Formats: sequence, C-alpha cells, structure tokens
Amino acid sequence: MDPLLAVALLLAVALAAASALLVRQGRRQARLRRLVGAGSGVDVAAATQALVVDRDQARQQVAQADQDLGQLAGLLGVGVLRFDDDLRVRFANPAACAFLGREQGGLDGRSALEAFADHEVEALLLAARDRGASGGEVPPHGEDGRALLIRARRSPWGGLWVALEDVTNLRRLERIRTEFVDNLSHELRTPLTSVRLLTETLARDLDDLVVPDRVRDRVARIDVETGHLVQMVSELLELSRIEAGGQQLYLDVVDMADVVRSSCERLQLFAERQGVRLEVRAPAGLPLVRGDVERLGQVLLNLIHNALKFSPAGTTVTAGARATPGEVEVSVADQGPGIATQDQARIFERFYKVDRARVRGMGGTGLGLAIARHIVEDHGGRLALDSEEGRGATFRFSLPEAADLAADREDQPRSAQPAGSSS
Ligand code: ADP
Repeated sequence: MDPLLAVALLLAVALAAASALLVRQGRRQARLRRLVGAGSGVDVAAATQALVVDRDQARQQVAQADQDLGQLAGLLGVGVLRFDDDLRVRFANPAACAFLGREQGGLDGRSALEAFADHEVEALLLAARDRGASGGEVPPHGEDGRALLIRARRSPWGGLWVALEDVTNLRRLERIRTEFVDNLSHELRTPLTSVRLLTETLARDLDDLVVPDRVRDRVARIDVETGHLVQMVSELLELSRIEAGGQQLYLDVVDMADVVRSSCERLQLFAERQGVRLEVRAPAGLPLVRGDVERLGQVLLNLIHNALKFSPAGTTVTAGARATPGEVEVSVADQGPGIATQDQARIFERFYKVDRARVRGMGGTGLGLAIARHIVEDHGGRLALDSEEGRGATFRFSLPEAADLAADREDQPRSAQPAGSSS
C-alpha cells in the first residue's frame, strides 16, 4: 500500500473520531440550552446525569477509534509512526517495530535518534516538524539492515506522522540488474571489438580484390551494424556505471556558452548533411557554473545531435545558454516532429523510442537521453522537455551559478583531472 495512502487512512480514522466528538459536544450543548431555557424548572440532577452519560459515551467512542486505528495500523505492511513535538515515539505499528528491529511496543517513548540510530533521519524528522514535510532514504545498516524509504508529515494537531517503506528488495534487484548489465556489456565488448576490427580489415582487403559490388555492400553494412552494437554496449556500460553511483564528476568552473559553441562546432558538418541550420545563441560573459565540462558537453552533443537527426531539411535548430536569476539555463530547440504528451513522461527511460518505425534506420540506441538525464541530475539540475506533437521540441536544463568561484578561477587547482581529453 502507498505509505501516503496508509497515513491518509489513519488520519481519516482519527478525523472520524474527532468529528464524532464534535457532533456529540454540539448535541450536549443544545441539550443544556434546552434545559437552561426551561427557566426555574431546571433539573440540575438530570442535566448533570446527561453530561456524565455524554462524557462516558464520548470516551467510549475515542477508545473505539483508538482500537480501530491500532487494528488498521496492524494490518499495514508499511511502517507507521507517530512522533510528538519533542520527537518521541507516541505510536508505532508492528511493521515499524519490525523494520527498526524492535519488539512490539519497544519503540514507545523512544527519541527519534534511539529509534533510528541515525542522525540524518533525526535531521529529516526535524525538517518535517519545522517545514511541514520531508523525505529520504536510509541505506541498510549492518548485515540484516533494511533500506527504508521515509516520508514524514507534520500533523495539524502537533507532532508528526512518519511512514516507512521497506525498499531493501527493490534496491537489491536494482543492484542485480545493474551488475548483470555491467557484466554482459563487458563480455560483449571484447568479441564485438574483434568483429569490428576484422570487418575493417576485410573491407581493406577487398580493395585489392575483384569482387562483385554486392559483396562490398554487405561488408560495409556489417561494419555499420557492428559499429552500432559497439556504441550500444559502451552506452549500456556507461549507464549502468552511472546508475551504480560510479560516475565521478571532475568539477570545474565552466562557461556554458563555450560548451554550447564547441558542441555546435562539432556537429556543424552533420547539420549541413541534414540540410538543417544550426544556430548558436550564447552571449559572452555568462555567469560561470560548477560542473564537469566533458559530461556537460556530452549532454549537449546528445541533445543537439537528436535535434538535427529528427529535424526535416530546411528547418533550424537553436542551441543556447542564458542567465536566469541565480542560474544558467541551457536549451536546444528544434522545429521537428515534436514529442506527443503521452511519450514525454517516458522519453528519458532507457531504450524508449517514440514511434520505432519512424526512427528505424536513423541509428541511435535509445540510451542517450537516459544518460543525459543522469548527468544533469548529478549536477543538481533537471532535464526538462517542452514539446507538442508536430511543433518541435525544446530540451532545457538549468545549473546553479557559481559566482563565488569565478573570482578564484585562476588560483584554484582543479579538484581532479578530467576523465578524458576534450576533442
Ligand atoms: P536515440 O536518439 O539514440 O534513439 P535518445 O535517448 O537520445 O536515443 O532518444 C530517445 C528517443 O526520443 C528517440 O529515439 C526519439 O524517438 C525521441 N527524441 C529524442 N529527441 C527528439 C527530438 N528532438 N525530436 C523528436 N524526438 C526526439
């Protein structure tokens, strides 16, 4: 069950109890008013008796609601905790106790730090108490530790509701998938590289022989397809490394206008072949950002290459960078076929291609945008798409300005060496 739904259910039960109380209180007041309105003939004993009965019924209802709440919380596979404003546990369902390695009732009265034994979780709960909501994930601690997804919301009546979702299995499966793809890509890369080299040699050998053209064509096609496979395998390897958190960014201060310009220069020939005009809108003197110049260049190359690839001849692709408050926004806009709304949510998934029939024969692995999204997110940005079918597409992302770093650009040594040389 969605943890938020679970918390919503619990809140609903609590609200039902509270509203029942209010209704009962309203009735009680109406009854008293009736009694007092009766003037001198007020029967105080009867009024007191009625109040006592009301109070007892109200208490019973609260106790029932409490029991209901406990029963419902006991059925949930999601951990539910109620903290008071001092961040002490006031309620914990069995799943929460199990996730945190405690006996039933073993969390009652414990502080957030005692319950989770983790300062970061304590900080997360404090943030929810002070700002209204927060969330995060705790990686597994120790041998049997669980990976827990935590969502915390401040309650309107004080304290916090906290939902815990056990994502240990999900994370394990993700790790297995990443390792599998990583191993498979490694295994495929060596024989594929050999096939590619052999095909190239074969093509050269054919130059000295008299063979029918169709043989030459076939060898050329084998070469193209092998090249495609080699590219796919290396992109898969790169993606699995990024997903496993193995991507190291070599941070430096970067002028995004330079990155946009150099990416466009590299793709100018391709643009001419496609018959598409490639326009650069990147003024000098933009604020600098903090980033890995190789990786950011890779993102731009991918976005501009896609824009050119999908644009019809005679149209324009515009790559730009501009200053926005506190940030530098980079965008690549084309006048191509655009991307339909239903595809936009999936466009950054690995291997997703819109209309496979249309893009067949255009090359491409369907991995480029997935990689680009990771790289932008690792820089603290978000890669967004703005498009309408038939009306072009604009991809953009923003990076925070690194104004404080601009001054020491000359003096500061690079935090690390770049991964490869720029070309
Ligand atoms: P590739 O281009 O290698 O297939 P990408 O991950 O870069 O892989 O892109 C995924 C899919 O998104 C493409 O196959 C294409 O269907 C769609 N796409 C990407 N960019 C554009 C664009 N500028 N205009 C239209 N469709 C695009």
